[in-house]
Amino acid sequence: MLDLSCPEIRFAVETVRKASLLARSVQQKRVSSELTKGDFSPVTVADFAVQALVGSALEVSFPKDTLVAEEDTSFLKTNKGAASLEEAAQFVREILGNVSSDQICRWIDRGTADPGRRFWTLDPIDGTKGFLRNDQYAVALALLEEGEVRVAALGCPHLNAKCRPEKGARGCLVVAVKGKGAWRTSLDEGDSSFVRLHVSERKDPHEAILLRSYEPSHADPKKGDEVSRVFGTKAKPIALDSQAKHAVLAAGHGDLFFYPVPKDKPHYRMCLWDVAPGYLVVREAGGRITDLQGGEIDFTQGKTVARNPGLLYSNGHFHDLALETLRV
Ligand code: AMP
Ligand code: MG
Repeated sequence: MLDLSCPEIRFAVETVRKASLLARSVQQKRVSSELTKGDFSPVTVADFAVQALVGSALEVSFPKDTLVAEEDTSFLKTNKGAASLEEAAQFVREILGNVSSDQICRWIDRGTADPGRRFWTLDPIDGTKGFLRNDQYAVALALLEEGEVRVAALGCPHLNAKCRPEKGARGCLVVAVKGKGAWRTSLDEGDSSFVRLHVSERKDPHEAILLRSYEPSHADPKKGDEVSRVFGTKAKPIALDSQAKHAVLAAGHGDLFFYPVPKDKPHYRMCLWDVAPGYLVVREAGGRITDLQGGEIDFTQGKTVARNPGLLYSNGHFHDLALETLRV
């Protein structure tokens, strides 16, 4: 059972739900109109508004906890960024009432902390390109303590309540607790029916359902083709942005995906907020995660997983065969 009496778990569920509904409202109201106008990016507005909301919620619930998040206010404080700040502030005020722009900046900048013994990590809009295509994105939050991911939540406004990508979906919320499991519910406010998540039982490589990043530059389509060939899968991989993929894998609707080491950026490593939330969700649903050398993920190396080149997520059964094919 998901223990909603635990303050950290309740915080993760409530905050990610509110933040995801806010992101969805920015996407619905702004993406089509602002893209054509082009004076500021709706994804920027959503990023800042969500980070401010989470920063403010943390101040209330866990004032001593720090936040390691993707955004800071340096852009908002430039002439070019002023319009984005005002736009983001409008959305935040719809939820928190009449707060000043300075206060909103302080909440956003709570997210500039360095990782310590205990901290939260947030990707306010993971999958910015998906957000702009009116497609998949996720609000991703995790609590880390002593180098371990303890609690994680993903809000995925374009998955349905069963974690399937679907046109017109109403949204899915996933929560994971270390050693206890992973669950899904709908994004609808007040929905407290949590269903346990399990990765698929598929074992036959021919039947593997491959997932991949939508962005070819995150995915290495050639390596992906090689995995398909070695596995003998016929179906094309399902392309999804963001940690929505991790939710889909955790729910058993897909079996495997990887992030390559980018050829043009051999030293690139994923950031904590791109990894920690989805990591716990997949793991607690029974899946396996390593880097592309088969190494365990090390969350104690600063803001990135600096010791982990590339990442592989699977239902467990296909992991070794995929590693053999992808090993760097
Ligand atoms: P995706 O799952 O493709 O939406 O990627 C998730 C996040 O990982 C993105 O928002 C980026 O922050 C990051 N990312 C993944 N692969 C790369 C890459 N090759 N170069 C830069 N960022 C990446
Ligand atoms: Mg991201």
